[in-house]
Amino acid sequence: MSDYVIAPPPQAAVPVAGGGLYPVRRIYCVGRNYADHAREMGHDPNAEPPFFFSKPADALVINGADTPYASQTADYHHEVELVAAIGVGGKDIPVDRAMDHVWGYGVGLDMTRRDLQAWAKKGGKPWEVAKGLDHSAPIGALVPAKGIATPLKGAIELKVNGEVRQSADISDMTWDLPHVIAELSKYFELFAGDLIFTGTPAGVSAVKKGDRLVGSIAGIGTVETTIA
Ligand code: MN
Repeated sequence: MSDYVIAPPPQAAVPVAGGGLYPVRRIYCVGRNYADHAREMGHDPNAEPPFFFSKPADALVINGADTPYASQTADYHHEVELVAAIGVGGKDIPVDRAMDHVWGYGVGLDMTRRDLQAWAKKGGKPWEVAKGLDHSAPIGALVPAKGIATPLKGAIELKVNGEVRQSADISDMTWDLPHVIAELSKYFELFAGDLIFTGTPAGVSAVKKGDRLVGSIAGIGTVETTIA
């Protein structure tokens, strides 16, 4: 018998390629981490460092499941991103130790109400309703970092109904993964179970109901979902 007065909410988790589940504590995201995407959003990529926001852990959509078209938007966008899964926590992690903290990798979609993001930016409002919405984090199976080189390069791509919308290389990141982890850990103590969505390249665009989204990163895997 527990002392919980209601049933505890389910533990968010992501399947691991080859079996098992990675339990998720938090989802951190990096904003504006590819120069070409910063430019397409109307920003100077050199004007400021990337910044962080978050999504709730239960925003995850497990690979293959449908992603409901979001309410309160007429401009729902895909952003394909490399995801790092933390295995060992820490704070103020040095860049040269950062990869010791990573358990594995995956491919994720940072689904975004772009119209509400523009509204938030214009009014100095929080990004919560643009980024932290339900079902806004489709994710593919995680692969263990063991045996995989640190993903500092490799093709990253997103197709909608078979048509390439985003195509770039991980090496185009403004801040690479070790720097992202080091910087994030200055603001938040990281724990095992934390996912980090590391930003998206150019080519973000609106989806509509029925669209089939397939994201991929060479050597890491894929994420697939249908907008329902
Ligand atoms: Mn993003």
